Amino acid sequence: MSEQTVVDSLEFARAAREICGSMAVASLTRLQDCLFDTGGTVDFRLKGGRDGRGRPVLILEVNGLLHLQCQRCLGLLEYPLHLSNTLTLLKRGENPGAEAEDPNASDFIEASSELDMAALVEDEILLSLPLVPRHPDERCQSVLSTRQHDGAGPHAFSKLAALKKI
Ligand SMILES: [Zn+2]
Repeated sequence: MSEQTVVDSLEFARAAREICGSMAVASLTRLQDCLFDTGGTVDFRLKGGRDGRGRPVLILEVNGLLHLQCQRCLGLLEYPLHLSNTLTLLKRGENPGAEAEDPNASDFIEASSELDMAALVEDEILLSLPLVPRHPDERCQSVLSTRQHDGAGPHAFSKLAALKKI
């Protein structure tokens, strides 16, 4: 998506419109702090519709692969992104009430006649990311090198085996 795409969110939901496209990770400027590098693209699909109570909703799906930075070893962490979220549109000043407190309820966003698609996709990605991204222990350089220093890793045993052969 090279140019900014703006949609009227209420109209989009009422007409059950659908739009899909892809964005370069490099264009997601608010994401940069979490990234190891800006390689790759994310694909998105936005669908308009109504929820069970007839309220206008937007359903956003985002798929891609982000290169996050592991907060333990600062190395590259490939993070598959598969998010799907239903956003209920509220008119300006409308209150979601007690439902906003319910973690199982869908998210609410204010309806806008000029909803910036790129900003929405970026918001949802940011919300979905782990607070402290890191490799699983067995794949994290930081953990592996500590284990080696402790002599508890597999390398310690192979050294031992090598010694015995002498
Ligand atoms: Zn790591």
